[in-house]
Order: sequence, then structure tokens, then C-alpha cells
Amino acid sequence: MDVRVRINELVDALIRHNRLYHQQNEPEISDWEYDALFRELETLEAVHPEQAREDSPTKQVGSAPIAELVPFVREIPMLSLQNGYKREPPEEDPWIDLRDFEERLRRVLGEEAPAVFQYVVEPKLDGLAMELVYEDRRFVRGGTRGDGVTGEDVTHNLRTIPSIPKVLPPSAPTRLTVRGEVLFDLPGFEKMNSAREAAGERRFENPRNSAAGTMRQLDPKSVAGRPLHFYAHSAGVLPERVPSHHELLNRFAAWGFTVNPINRRCTGLDEVIAAVADLERLRVDLPYEIDGAVVKVDSTAQQDALGFVTRSPRWALAFKYPPPTAQTRLESVLFSVGRTGAVTPVANLAPVRVGGVTVRNATLHNEHQMTRVLGLRVGDLVEIRRAGDVIPEVLRAVDEPGRADRPPIAYPETCPQCGAHLVREPNPDDLDKVLIRCPDKLSCSAQARGAIRHFASRLAMDIEGVGEKIVDQLVTHGLVRRPSDLYALTKDQLVNLERMGELSATNLVSAIEASKARPLDRALMALGVPMVGESTARDLARYFGSLDAIMGATVPELTGVPGVGDNVAQAVRAFFDEPGNVEEIERLRARGVQFPGGARVANGTAFVGKTFVLTGTLPTLSRDAAKARIEAAGGKVTGSVSKKTDYVVVGADAGSKLEKAVELGVPTLDEGALLALLEGAS
Ligand SMILES: [Zn+2]
Repeated sequence: MDVRVRINELVDALIRHNRLYHQQNEPEISDWEYDALFRELETLEAVHPEQAREDSPTKQVGSAPIAELVPFVREIPMLSLQNGYKREPPEEDPWIDLRDFEERLRRVLGEEAPAVFQYVVEPKLDGLAMELVYEDRRFVRGGTRGDGVTGEDVTHNLRTIPSIPKVLPPSAPTRLTVRGEVLFDLPGFEKMNSAREAAGERRFENPRNSAAGTMRQLDPKSVAGRPLHFYAHSAGVLPERVPSHHELLNRFAAWGFTVNPINRRCTGLDEVIAAVADLERLRVDLPYEIDGAVVKVDSTAQQDALGFVTRSPRWALAFKYPPPTAQTRLESVLFSVGRTGAVTPVANLAPVRVGGVTVRNATLHNEHQMTRVLGLRVGDLVEIRRAGDVIPEVLRAVDEPGRADRPPIAYPETCPQCGAHLVREPNPDDLDKVLIRCPDKLSCSAQARGAIRHFASRLAMDIEGVGEKIVDQLVTHGLVRRPSDLYALTKDQLVNLERMGELSATNLVSAIEASKARPLDRALMALGVPMVGESTARDLARYFGSLDAIMGATVPELTGVPGVGDNVAQAVRAFFDEPGNVEEIERLRARGVQFPGGARVANGTAFVGKTFVLTGTLPTLSRDAAKARIEAAGGKVTGSVSKKTDYVVVGADAGSKLEKAVELGVPTLDEGALLALLEGAS
């Protein structure tokens, strides 16, 4: 048989089976048969490379890792959508925002408004917005949303997603950009997590964040095989005129893109409301996460006439549902001990699906919440809520007969880890509530583990190799009780630990050694002074210049540091007043930790030497005005968020920069906070 014919057959068959498997979930052949075809193709291509097709499935997993992500600049900005929210009945009409939306359409169109609008209602996928660029009907480039104009180029990873066509049929325009969402399907996500767990790897917490993290990987090999999908929902560059949105979606499908099959065409607002309500009911059973519905005016002519308001099209509305809730049984309450000794209650639940994800634990926040607000008893039927990225929480206990007969859950009197009697202190964050702490800092293994992990963590001393498993072993074997003990570890002691060879023991010792020279702000973070995070540590280090100066500073001197308030100043003072902390610092010094400070910034404002990133639309300041004022105060404004960014100023519809800030732990400011800071600086 002609090699070229066979290669074509194989490529077409593999593409088709990929689609059946990944998009329709209806495989026709076994994985084994698939692999056999794949290997045959690989062999033929290896022997006849000149015959290999560009869209061959063999090419989609093997591309080389890239050195760093580069900017992805789009021709037509990606806009954000106006939001509407489902309201709480019966006080409010739940659909009032949809009615207002149509009223605005009528007002803007005036006499041109049709008697009845045609709409398309789409599920609002909780994924990662993505743009794909096709030239000569070939997929050439793709990138994330970013600030709407510039995102990150993630082409190498997009190539590994089976539902992204690499070559378009002749019916497609030669140049085209397609927009949509990349997301994990939930069954695939669960499966991937089980596999990771079995391999001793960490479970991914949340499908959306993991999709974002996955797309930013440099090596596409680690992305290939993850169950990601792309759903097309709109066009950027589109050289041909398409009369309506639903027609555009039909064409996308004909060109090989996945279009969500539950998108619905609606005539008039009542059908829209019915579709939006149906979608909310369907939501729990969908194989992906949604947080609302997108309602779009169907007619392209009407869309053009409606135009844009600031940075959003007038013809579309993102209608958000309240966060999903579910009911399940409270099986027990666990009390977890943090690194500062704070004991917090965690609900252990009968597994339940909420918004498509299986939930087993939920936070109960504190004693006040658990006993006074919720009045929990073991065995209660509880309602839980899961909103976006936050940890699920217990909203209430359902009143049932016999519930009152069961005893309420009491807080333990002693530390579940070390048995010390717990103490109750006023909570500095909320004086109405007490903080319940294990006072036995030294012998409480939970606190020791937490403190050592924190000390070695990336933003603190950044000691590579001192992860959770190692710390657990070091503490259990009594090798390390406090951070300073790390600096006395020898290679011989480490070699005896589980999963530790000669080489890794040597590496660990040198990583610990190298951390002795970490700058003052990092070391300050590492000490775990309450309320002192990354940026406060930096402010203190810059202002005082040395650890001794900080340790000797009075509360009024500390509040002299821009950005340091009364509570922080008192927490810092109290920390250094505690003899145990001073002794630990002396031990660290004796073992060679240097705490090197920089030059003291004389009367520096909060802005000098600080890097700001602006994102989203601020309520009153334009981006240029905000930039000018920050620069006038001595700050610097840059375009992208990194570990070196001091603040991200966040306005409406902030995109990936905000996500990045959260991911890196960079503090965020709203306009009010920025103005207050500017006020303080002048
Ligand atoms: Zn304890």
C-alpha cells in the first residue's frame, strides 16, 4: 500500500477517535487498539518523515519545552461582559437583571428595536479564556486573556488539547481568531486526582486553578494527557460577515471546534428566563463547572447597532447564579493545630457533590461560629456552600426531629496534638471572638512542624527540599524541634531518613547552608512574627535596615513605617518581647544565620522603590492618572505581576493579573486604598 495513503488513513482515524473519546465520550475502539494505530503511524512517520502530516496526532504531544512564557498580543481586544445576578426571591424578582438588560437594549435601539428579540443563552463556563489564531487555516498561536490586549502565549500547551483543531477545512476563512474557554472536565479531573494520589502526588484542589496552572507549564509533555477541553464561543478576527451568533456557532462546529451542545436559541425574554433557570437546575449534573449563563443578542446587525459601553458589549450579559449549596451529614469535627498554635474546627462530612466537585471537608471558622452560630451536633444534616476558589463552608444545620437530644459539639480542653491545656485569648482580628491556642510552643509537634515548614517555605528562607514529608520525619525522629535546629543537621543524620539518599542529603545540607545569607526581610518572614507578611517584612527591613533596630523599636517607632498600623506594631513588639523568640534568634545567629539588611530608607514614603501593577477599570482614576500619581510619589508602574511586584491595584473586571497576584501572594489595593496610601505619602 502507498505509504502516503496509509498515513492519511491513520491520521484521519486517530483524529476521529480522539474526538469520539475526548469530546463525545463515546470511544469506538479500546485504548489498546488506539495505541496500536498510534504506534503504526509513529513508525511510518519515522521512516518517511517527508510524508508526515502537520496535524498528525503524534506531533501534538512531543513538542519541546519552552524557556519562558512570552506575551501574546491580540489584534482585537478581548472585552469583558456586563454582569447581572440572580436575586433572592421572594423579596426580589430573581430575574430583574435580565429584564433590565432587555430594557436597556430597547432604550438604545429606540425605533429600531424589534418587537421580539432573538437571543442565544450559553452556559458561562468557569474556565480559562483563550484565543486561538489560525493563519492559512492552520493553528499558529494561542494565548490567555491577560489584560484583554496582552496575555501569555501558551501555544505549546494548546497544541496538546485534542478538541482544538490544528488544521481547518477549506470551508473556513483563511484567517480567523476563535475565542473560548479551556477547562477540565470534572470526571477527568477526579480521575487525574486519583492517579496523582496513587503516585504519591498532591491532589489538585480546584479545576479552574489547575487549568490555569496547567496552561502555564513550560513543558507540554506535562500537559499532554491532562483532560482539558476547549469550547468555542466567539470570534475575534473574522473576515466574513455572519448574520447571527447562532450561525457563527454552527460554522465553528462545521470547522471542527467544539461548541457547547446545550447552548440554546431563545425567542423573547420569557424563553431566556426559562433557559437560564433550566441551566441552573442542570448545573449540578454538568461534567464541568459553570457559574452562570451568558445571554447574547443573536442578530449581528442588532449587535452592531447596540455597540459598546466602556469596555463591554451592550448586547451581552453574564448572568451569575448564587454559589452552589448541598446538604450532607456532619460525621465529625476535627481540630487542626496551626503553626501559631491556633486550634480551628474543620467539619468532616459525608462526601457530597457541590457544583460538580466532591467535598469531604468544610471550614467551621472558629468556636463562635461552630457553637453559637451553627450550634452543631455530630450527625447533623448540614447545608454547605462552595463559592469559587474558597474552602467550602458550613452555612447551617437543618432542623430535624430529635436533633436537640444530641449533645452539642464541644471544643477540646487539650491540644489534640500534644495534650497541653488550651488557652483562650482575645482574637486580634475580631475582639468579639476568642482565639483558642495551644500554649506549648516547644513540645507541640503540630506547631513545630508548622513553624519549620513556614521557616523553610519559598517566600521565607526558601530551603529547597524541606517539604512536608521531610519535616514530619525530622520532627518525629526528634532531630529538629525549632528552625534553628535545621542548621545543626548533618549529612549522616539525614541519610537515615526515608527516601533520602547520599546525594539528596548532601543537597539538603548545602541548601540549608545557603539559606543563612537570606536577606533580612525574608528572614523576618521566616521567624513567623504574627501579622507580618511578605510586604510588611520588606517595609520593616527597608525602614530599619537591621534586625537589631527592628527588635529594639518601640510601638510608635514601628507605626512610623508607612503601611504599618497599630495592630501590626503591637504584634511585632510583643513578638520580640517574648524571651523564647529572642533566644531562638540568638541560636540562629550562633549557627550562622546572618539577617543581612540593606541601607535604611530615610523617611521613605510607602512608594519609594515600590513596584505597582494596575489591572481592571478603577472607579474614578484613569489608568494614566493612577500611573502618574504613583510615579509622582516615587513608585514605579510595570505591566506584569511577578514576585518583585509590591502591590497590584485592582479595578472592575480585573483579569489574570489579579489571579497572578493572588497566586504569588502580592498584596492588592482597590482605588480607595491606593488613594489613602497616596494621601499618606504626600
Ligand atoms: Zn499542642
